[in-house]
Parts: sequence; structure tokens; C-alpha cells
Amino acid sequence: ITEEFKQASEIIDRIEQYGFQAYFVGGSVRDLLLDRKIGDIDIATSAPPKVILELFEKVIPVGMEHGTVIVRHLHQSYEVTTFRVDDDYSDQRHPDSVTFVKSIDHDLKRRDFTINAIAMDKSGTIVDPFDGKTDIKNNIIRAVGDANDRFMEDPLRIMRALRFSSQLGFSIEEQTLKAMKSAVSEIDSIAMERVVQETSKFFSGAYVNHGLYYFKKVKIEKHLPILQENAHILHHMPKKLEPLNSFASVLALLHFIEPDISIGSWVKQWKCSNFIKSEAENLYEALLNYKLNGLNRWLVYHLHEGNYEDFTTLVHLLFNETLTINKVIQIENFLPIKSKKDLAINGIDLNELFPDKSPGPWIGKTLAQIEKEVVYGNIMNRKNVLKDWIKWNLHEID
Ligand code: ATP
Ligand code: MG
Repeated sequence: ITEEFKQASEIIDRIEQYGFQAYFVGGSVRDLLLDRKIGDIDIATSAPPKVILELFEKVIPVGMEHGTVIVRHLHQSYEVTTFRVDDDYSDQRHPDSVTFVKSIDHDLKRRDFTINAIAMDKSGTIVDPFDGKTDIKNNIIRAVGDANDRFMEDPLRIMRALRFSSQLGFSIEEQTLKAMKSAVSEIDSIAMERVVQETSKFFSGAYVNHGLYYFKKVKIEKHLPILQENAHILHHMPKKLEPLNSFASVLALLHFIEPDISIGSWVKQWKCSNFIKSEAENLYEALLNYKLNGLNRWLVYHLHEGNYEDFTTLVHLLFNETLTINKVIQIENFLPIKSKKDLAINGIDLNELFPDKSPGPWIGKTLAQIEKEVVYGNIMNRKNVLKDWIKWNLHEID
């Protein structure tokens, strides 16, 4: 057992001291069995949420009615959820109510896939009523119980299955896949924020190309904004897709494939944030620049650092050219300035330099010209040097 689980087992210890059961559950157990880097550690317990609130010092009651409390321990957050079963799903998104139950086996039954329905106690003993371990061994995603019922209950599970296939490279079991196909129109009822979240995880999966095979098979695009009326976009996806870390880079790719649909439309219809919009536009500009000029200082100067990795991936996908991040970083290291703010001269200086000229567009134009010359290393970023340069060149800018 890893250090992460050791720390988390202190939470289990405390719960057990008070006579309740507690187990590790969900993604962390799956990833441990897969020898994959684990994300958050979730804990399931027989203790009611009120008891958890009392047992721990730092708690956040995030979803008491669903039995979920976040416990902070050694600067880590753990979701501690009381064993429960979901009652009817009349709105197909949230169970109308939940019922707390006595045994972990009951709790595991409500979980989506066998690989996610495995519990482990603090000593490492596995509780695995649906033989998820075998499915992990055979790389299979299989719904717990009747697949048709499970996807109708909560169609988000369709997207989760696709994203697990992309993250883990697993195959989707036949009955499960069939049920996904027949329930796919229920996707329309999922909140767009959840759709974006899952789609984003899907495109960042290490096996996204494998996942895309199922994505198309399920025809999920028929229930996703913009893609539904633009089937050609999916067909024009790169033949061998590679993981993209940010959703912004997915949008940049989609816009590159179909320039007639603006990044703004994607952002609006997929209800993305303005941050995603500006990052997508930043990437797209860089791709256009690359297409025309190849890698250059001006491109790197404008490209946001958080986009470096996805930019190199997109260059590979779209232009079939191999570009390492180091190459980009190398150029960045030699940039004389990182932004306009670093210029040794500003608008006020320009006004003082030419007191006879009234303020106007010439100032912005001049600064833009200097910015480019400085970035390219043609002139030094020193006030006097810039002043002289402007005196010599102003007639051309003006
Ligand atoms: P990740 O590595 O992305 O965190 P995860 O499997 O931990 O993957 P979570 O969304 O964190 O996924 O959910 C934790 C667990 O809760 C899952 O492993 C699964 O057992 C259960 N679960 C989550 N969402 C659903 C759902 N929509 N239907 C049924 N069970 C779910
Ligand atoms: Mg998780």
C-alpha cells in the first residue's frame, strides 16, 4: 500500500474506533489495482454524515443529504460518503433521494462500472462483489447490474464510460455498449457543464484515439451542440488523435477543422468560461502563425505558457511536424521581453519625445512596431536606443 493510502487510513482508523466500518472506494482503488497514478481517495462508511462531522476537526458538509462530507487531513481532502443506495431517478439526473444502508455491498451496487465498484479496507483486503478485478485484468468496462437500467437512470454514465475508455484504454463490454447506444438520446437532459467536464476528460485521456472509436460508435455527437448539425467535423478529426490537456485546445482544434464555426460559438453553445475562450483563441492564433511562418519568436512571445504542451501536440496533429516543448521554451528563454509592459518606453515617453505631435494612433502604431523589433532582437530594449530608433524611423510609421 502506498504512502497516500497510509495517510488516508488514519481517517478509517478513527471511524473504526467509533464502531463503524469504512473502506477506500472508487477510482483510487481501481487505479491502485491498475498500478496507475491515483487521484483523489474516496472513503465509504457505515457512519451517518452527522457522525463524520463530529469525529473530525476539519470538515466541509458538501452534500449532507447525499451523505457526503469532505474531511481535511494532513492537508489533503477526502470525500467520506455514507453507504447508500439511490432511490428513483425521476429527472434522470439526480436521484430523488438516497437511503443510507448498512453494508458496503449494497453501496457498491449503486456504482456505475464494475471497475469502480471495488472497495478495499485499510489492511488492503478487497471487497469485489461484481468481480471488477477480473474486468480490470481484462481491460473491460462493464456496467454494474442491468446496463439498460443503469444508463437510463443516469445518462451521464454514457459519457463516463467513454471517458474511462479514453483514460484507461479499456474496451466496453458488448451489452454495456449496446445499452449506451440505446440510451444515448438521454444525453440531451444532462447539464452542459457536466457534458463539458466529461468531454474535456475524454479528450485528455492517454488512449483518446481508442476512446474516439467508441465515441463514434455510440454516435454521441448527435446529442452534442454544434457537432450534431456538423457531422463532417468529427470525420475530419486527425486520423490518430493524441491527448489534449485543456478543453481550450480541443476548441482550437475544432475551429481549425471548421473555421466557419467561431470559437465564440463553441464557447457559447458549450457554455464554457471566458478563460477557455481566450486560451482557445491564443492557441488558434499560434497555429495560424505556425502554418504561415513555422516556429518563430513572435509566435512564442504571444503563446501563453500554459498552452505550450498542447500547442506542440496540435502542431503534430495538424501539420504532422514534431516540435518539442523544449524548443519552444528555448526560444522563450531568449526573448528580450515577455510582454509589452517590459518595453523600456511607453506612450507617455513618446509624447514627451515629440512635444509638437498631438497624441493619436501614431503612438500605438509606433509602440507596436518597436515591440516587434525588440522581440526579434533587432533593437535593444533601452530607452535611449528606442528613442533614437523612433527618431530615425518615425516618418515611415507615420
Ligand atoms: P476519477 O479518477 O476521474 O476521479 P472516479 O472513478 O474516482 O474517477 P468519480 O467521479 O471521482 O470517478 O466518482 C467516484 C466513484 O463514485 C466512482 O468510482 C463510482 O464508483 C461512483 N460514481 C461516480 N459517478 C457515478 C455515477 N454517475 N453513477 C454511479 N456511480 C458513480
Ligand atoms: Mg475520483
